[in-house]
Amino acid sequence: MKKIAIIGAGPGGLAAGMVLVNDYEVHIFEKDATVGGRSKKMSLGEYHFDVGPTFLMYLEILKDVFKQAGFELEKELDLIKLEQLYTLRFKDVTFNISSDKEENVKMYNKYKPNLGNDYLRWLNAQEKKLQAIGPILKKPFPNVFHFLRPDVLKAVPYVHLGQSVYRHLETFNKDEHFIHSLSFQAKYLGMSSYQAPSIFTILPYLEHGLGLYHVKGGLNQINHVMAKLIEQKGGKIHLSSPVDQIIVEDGVAKALKVGNQTLTFDEIILNGDFAYSMANLVDQAHLKKYKKEKLDKMRYSVSTFMVYLGLDKTYDFAHHEILFSNDYKAYLHGLTSNQFTEDISVYVHNPSLIDETYAPKGHSSLFILVPVPNLKAKKDWTTYGKTLKETAIKMIEEKHQVNLKDHIVESKIIDPTNWEKDYHVYQGAVFNLSHDLGQMLHKRPKNQFDEIKHLYLVGGGTHPGSGLPTIYQSALILKHYL
Ligand SMILES: Cc1cc2nc3c(=O)[nH]c(=O)nc-3n(C[C@H](O)[C@H](O)[C@H](O)COP(=O)(O)OP(=O)(O)OC[C@H]3O[C@@H](n4cnc5c(N)ncnc54)[C@H](O)[C@@H]3O)c2cc1C
Repeated sequence: MKKIAIIGAGPGGLAAGMVLVNDYEVHIFEKDATVGGRSKKMSLGEYHFDVGPTFLMYLEILKDVFKQAGFELEKELDLIKLEQLYTLRFKDVTFNISSDKEENVKMYNKYKPNLGNDYLRWLNAQEKKLQAIGPILKKPFPNVFHFLRPDVLKAVPYVHLGQSVYRHLETFNKDEHFIHSLSFQAKYLGMSSYQAPSIFTILPYLEHGLGLYHVKGGLNQINHVMAKLIEQKGGKIHLSSPVDQIIVEDGVAKALKVGNQTLTFDEIILNGDFAYSMANLVDQAHLKKYKKEKLDKMRYSVSTFMVYLGLDKTYDFAHHEILFSNDYKAYLHGLTSNQFTEDISVYVHNPSLIDETYAPKGHSSLFILVPVPNLKAKKDWTTYGKTLKETAIKMIEEKHQVNLKDHIVESKIIDPTNWEKDYHVYQGAVFNLSHDLGQMLHKRPKNQFDEIKHLYLVGGGTHPGSGLPTIYQSALILKHYL
């Protein structure tokens, strides 16, 4: 059996392990003592958290990953389909978005007469768009000639080249709140809706049209279950085993340096953050487009500032809630032009509302995410982090008229410097290379890496892109090559 090494047990590396474990001798090397990477589980005393992802959508991709290894997703994980998707709080308007489209129609109509009809028009258009674009994202896109593929040509009318997500939504209705409620999802890619290409209006459709899921115990459980199943099939997961170097000879990836060992493999798959790994694991002499100085000139997503709180009380905020800045447009522009503001936007995850495994009875675990510029924007995070934590907590307290501060039992911050130092994420840009058209499809680092033979890429830094479904898809794409 051919031997395959996977560098990193993040969602991308584990999904690759699932896809390949039946046909290869799989070895996954993970630098940390646990699996999951940016999606891992974090515990503070008796309080548990998902470090990163909390929104799970487009399940068919993950189902396929499990199927490839011979398992059924629903049998392995306790999945909960959410009836209430999320609550969106603007300065003067609150939208409770439901999984039931009729409820949403009523809600939009109550806010503005006939807006519900525009919502339905949008929903129907996105369904067609996903049917056209989905198949493209499921295949490799190695070069410019792939634009001539029949599936790509068929999708052209749905792409609206040159339009941003925001601009495209304006064609349905110009109401700002309506647009923000169906475009804040551009931030899943670490982008602003004013910049993100309009194809990404499929993201909110994945939630509204196909549903949003929670996994009992947290999305981190997907990683633990994949790790267990890979080992059950004979794959090996080497924890606390950082790869120091990918050894390349005559343009071919041959071996890995792990501690004082040099281990040879037939194929090597990289899941570690693409830019960070190129800059740190590969001798620069073997690279052309992706040498350190060129990586520095590429465009990257925003970062996130995180506050995880263990509280001796439960709160009835929605499971997923977004508190929008008073001037959200100015906030998005600042975010993507490396400016900081006090008028922040905050995402709050309150899983204890539906899942008792996160905290002791009567207590809760709260996850607060503030999108912030990445490390290209110079900031002293040791002082600014303290201020931002206070601003975010105060914002939640004021919006909900509650006291959080006096109920904090455990607390932890992750700022952009931690993402880089501890999670090995280049510039702390947690959603990887930005998803502008100049860095997508054949212009994104390729799944079959074109600068080094026998090296393959999975994860958010390669095709099709960042976000769990596309990350899982990058692993499925390996089947075209291996
Ligand atoms: C705060 C936050 C919230 C997010 N929310 C969502 C969400 O709700 N929904 C969604 O779909 N996506 C979300 N994402 C985006 C994305 O799904 C996650 O970031 C995801 O974990 C990325 O997976 P990955 O496999 O590409 O990389 P990673 O999770 O970073 O995995 C890479 C792995 O490689 C390991 N590694 C790196 N270098 C080495 C080395 N030299 N040797 C050995 N191991 C190494 C790392 O330790 C890590 O385990 C979120 C991201 C963040 C940060």
